[in-house]
Amino acid sequence: MTSWPGGARGAVAFTFDFDAEEVWIGDDPENANRPGVLSQGTYGAKVAVPLLLELLEHHGLKQTFFVPGRVAERHPGRVEEILAAGHEVGHHGYLHLRSDGATDAQQREEIERGLEALATLGVTPRGYRSPSWELTPETFALLKHYGFAYDSSLMGDDRPYVVDGLLELPVHWSLDDWPHLHWKPGRGDAFTSPEAFLDTWLREFDSARRDRRHLTYTMHPEVIGRGYRAQLLDDLIMNMTARANVWFPAHEDVAAFGVG
Ligand code: ZN
Repeated sequence: MTSWPGGARGAVAFTFDFDAEEVWIGDDPENANRPGVLSQGTYGAKVAVPLLLELLEHHGLKQTFFVPGRVAERHPGRVEEILAAGHEVGHHGYLHLRSDGATDAQQREEIERGLEALATLGVTPRGYRSPSWELTPETFALLKHYGFAYDSSLMGDDRPYVVDGLLELPVHWSLDDWPHLHWKPGRGDAFTSPEAFLDTWLREFDSARRDRRHLTYTMHPEVIGRGYRAQLLDDLIMNMTARANVWFPAHEDVAAFGVG
């Protein structure tokens, strides 16, 4: 059974994929000419990131933001604010291209250009999260070549594990705000109610606490960073800390702690 620092009974990571406009352009280059679509990402940079930074500071949490290189170039001031607040910045591709649709050469370019863009802001990322959680066999070879300490894109376990020699801090669709709270016109899906969303994420926390598992939640500023939803995140944190002494490490701190 894992012992967490400070005698904590729970270990939780809130990770934020700061995709801004690139999630749309990476999905379909035609979206570069659709201001209505892109504005959803612009909201993330303009409104949501400052809101989330304030919330995290209120709770004294240092967490992890995964940033595509092109987003770092488009919104360098926001990334500098994330860094100045003490959060970790991880690699999230360059153009937010889905790896499964990329050739090996494109995938190498995604990794290398992403590294270059983050380096201009003084960041040497320790961790990687693939856009849309799609990977190729080439991806892991590149991550190891460039000395990454961990990946956080897979679902092969419900606790940290090792894949091909690299620490994996696993994710899950049910623990991602996008399937619950993002809505796409014409797709026929619906938002999860605030009550059901909070209940789902708290149930996972309770089970992880019972099993002494480190747990990763994935969020997107443009999705979680609206008033009532940020309040849900606030409620979640307060419910967790009321139930247990919780360790909230950034992913790089989990890797340094030697979980897995
Ligand atoms: Zn993303």
